[in-house]
Amino acid sequence: MTDPSERYRTTAAQRELAARVREIAETHFAPRALEWEQTGQFPAPNIKLLAEAGVMGTAVPVEYGGAGGGWLDSAVVLEEIARTCYVTAMATLGELGVQSRAIAAFGDAALKADLLPRIARGDVVCSICITEADSGSDVGAIVTRAVPTDGGWRLSGGKALISRLDVVDIMLVCTRFGTGEGRGIRDVGFLVVERDRPGVTVSGAHQTLGGERLFELTLTDVFVPERNLLVGPGGFKTMMNAFNGQRCLNAAISIGIAQGALDAALARAQQREQFGHPIADFQGIRWMLADCAIDIEAARALVHRAAYNDGNDFPNRYDSAVAKVFANEMSLRVTDRVLQIFGGHGFLRDLPAERYLRWARYGGLGGGTPQVLRDGIAGELYRARR
Ligand SMILES: Cc1cc2nc3c(=O)[nH]c(=O)nc-3n(C[C@H](O)[C@H](O)[C@H](O)COP(=O)(O)OP(=O)(O)OC[C@H]3O[C@@H](n4cnc5c(N)ncnc54)[C@H](O)[C@@H]3O)c2cc1C
Repeated sequence: MTDPSERYRTTAAQRELAARVREIAETHFAPRALEWEQTGQFPAPNIKLLAEAGVMGTAVPVEYGGAGGGWLDSAVVLEEIARTCYVTAMATLGELGVQSRAIAAFGDAALKADLLPRIARGDVVCSICITEADSGSDVGAIVTRAVPTDGGWRLSGGKALISRLDVVDIMLVCTRFGTGEGRGIRDVGFLVVERDRPGVTVSGAHQTLGGERLFELTLTDVFVPERNLLVGPGGFKTMMNAFNGQRCLNAAISIGIAQGALDAALARAQQREQFGHPIADFQGIRWMLADCAIDIEAARALVHRAAYNDGNDFPNRYDSAVAKVFANEMSLRVTDRVLQIFGGHGFLRDLPAERYLRWARYGGLGGGTPQVLRDGIAGELYRARR
């Protein structure tokens, strides 16, 4: 059997990138994966290693010091990181994905020149802040608002369930613009907000099932200069193109988690003996392992198809939604089977099986839930028949 990465649409350069990241992850991330989730600390040393290897600039254009990779490059990298350390995958998802690509595509020249080289060097943590206490899937219900003032905007509101705000430098904040009626996405866009602006407050440090911590953000009359505009009123639809790409990356993390779990189950099944045989000899186990492989192969093919995207800037909505729903649900099926293969020992925190199952639970919560994405997929089917 050939290496899985050779059976997809990856180039030799992407396979080399994957191998490089795998080596870093297995050597440096795997031994401390549990520690990062138990302490809730940001895995800064891992980001440094990835930056030194040129990986943090995967999504940054070459002219800004990055590698100028496409969405598939980012997917390949995130799969390899998630295979050993979910917390590190989540800590790099934004810089390898929508944050960097949105700044590169929509930011003004000064903003790009300032931020992108620092992202590529791993010097900047850049969060995206969309979710609010009363607005999750329904972005049209956000209440954060930017009111025009001399030279920019005054921004007020709050965000919830936001990653990495304990270490953040820059935030892409989803906001309503002006003083309109306050419903729907017509007046919604994004501003870039520096963490150290007066009026920015971070609170909470909620522990999660996967290990990374989530925070609340309060914005009290924060001045944001004109040059920090990313996309103005009506720009949410523009940003949706970038979110389609982000869905492929969320799905790549699901694949990495499932692959890491399958690797662990294969080793365990060959080593654990019952009834005088390795449990790998029993059909019940063989078929579970085979079902895991079938699931992962199918998900990877879907995600690579969506992320490859025939050279367009952003993956399309239908392909990325199909890939994300399948990969998210696949990773739950796979990690559940893997825990079964580990038996009662799989329930212990000491062995890796339960860890993968917990990590897999995130995929279907962030970046578009399976329920909301299924609605979108059905909508595309109806449109295609008109
Ligand atoms: C680990 C983690 C990290 C996160 N990081 C960030 C971050 O950095 N930035 C950020 O902005 N957000 C972040 N989030 C928040 C995440 O994006 C939201 O949880 C997500 O958008 C869902 O919103 P909600 O939790 O409010 O759920 P809700 O939207 O309230 O949904 C609750 C349930 O109702 C279902 N539902 C909602 N609408 C429909 C519908 N129309 N049809 C059928 N079912 C529906 C959903 O599928 C879900 O099952 C993070 C979440 C997690 C878990």
